[in-house]
Amino acid sequence: MEIKIRRQLPTHLKPHPADEASLGFGDIYTDHMFKMDYYDGSWRDPRIEPYAPLLLDPSAMVLHYSQTIFEGLKCYRHPDGRLALFRPRDNFRRFNTSAERMAVPPLDESLLLEALKELLKIDGTWTPSHPGASLYIRPTVIATEPHLGVRPAREYLHYIILGPVGPYYPEGFAPIKIYVEPSYTRAAPGGLGSIKAGASYAASLLATELAHRKGYTQLLWLDAITHRFVEEVGSMNMFFVVDGTIVTAPLTGTILPGITRASVLQVAKDLGIRAEERALSVEELLETQKNGRLSECFGAGTACVISPVGHLSYKDEVFQIGDGGIGEISQKLYDELVGVQYGTLPDTRGWVEFVE
Ligand SMILES: *Cc1c(COP(=O)(O)O)cnc(C)c1O
Repeated sequence: MEIKIRRQLPTHLKPHPADEASLGFGDIYTDHMFKMDYYDGSWRDPRIEPYAPLLLDPSAMVLHYSQTIFEGLKCYRHPDGRLALFRPRDNFRRFNTSAERMAVPPLDESLLLEALKELLKIDGTWTPSHPGASLYIRPTVIATEPHLGVRPAREYLHYIILGPVGPYYPEGFAPIKIYVEPSYTRAAPGGLGSIKAGASYAASLLATELAHRKGYTQLLWLDAITHRFVEEVGSMNMFFVVDGTIVTAPLTGTILPGITRASVLQVAKDLGIRAEERALSVEELLETQKNGRLSECFGAGTACVISPVGHLSYKDEVFQIGDGGIGEISQKLYDELVGVQYGTLPDTRGWVEFVE
């Protein structure tokens, strides 16, 4: 399908952020967006247009039943100025896995990648070159059909928006404090845990807000059935370094299969660091903390890349991880991943895809 392009008037182009060093996350968007509609049984009219608010019927199904999915990936500026995507095909594959679970019609993954590259040829100049900053990419599908009966919609809008971002957490690459959530749950077996659905985030807001008020950056979710096994954190997969081995929860359906998670496991293997995917109970975790066997803990996700955890709080007790600073393994993994993403280290694994 041919992608039509309608450019913004030069006089209407927005100013780029003045200070790349103080970019936040998710407040600034570029001049254009990619859009595609679904109706009468197929995806139609792929196009790039000026970034603009959407017009939605108040009965649009997404507004009532949350039939929506999204992805999150980044574009990085390499030292030679080229724009690089990190494993974008994996994101679009996961987008379709999410679509299937949410009864959204499948999308053409190669068309979406082509569309993203076209959009970046127009708005790629927004990609910051400041260390730690990048251009965040948010593909989304929403159910637009005006209808209030509960069933999968028959009309959808897919769009991709872009925006320059700094570090996800205000702390940057610095240890965060995490609250182990004893009662609220994120995802139950058979639910939405393994896909990127807005609905999962809506369900997580209250518990996360309560943890924020107690002074914690994020929640560590436990499994929904026994409340014993550690699963993941907000928008990151979790890793623990026990006796020098990296341990992360297995992908049993309640955990998001993070591309950063997969990359961390691969890099660990390449660096000769032992890694295990296995269930880890919070009792075992605290036991290893008390015995001095838990040296590091970190989250991994596109938004933050690697986020070291300095403290965990569980049932009114606060546990320091290692010396509360950035662990050696966290630092090594961060350096390798960020080096490949920003093009200061060679891409030996075929993870980087250039825009042109
Ligand atoms: C997106 C996401 C992650 C991280 O996935 P990446 O592909 O590494 O960005 C982890 N957990 C949840 C719930 C997410 O939505």
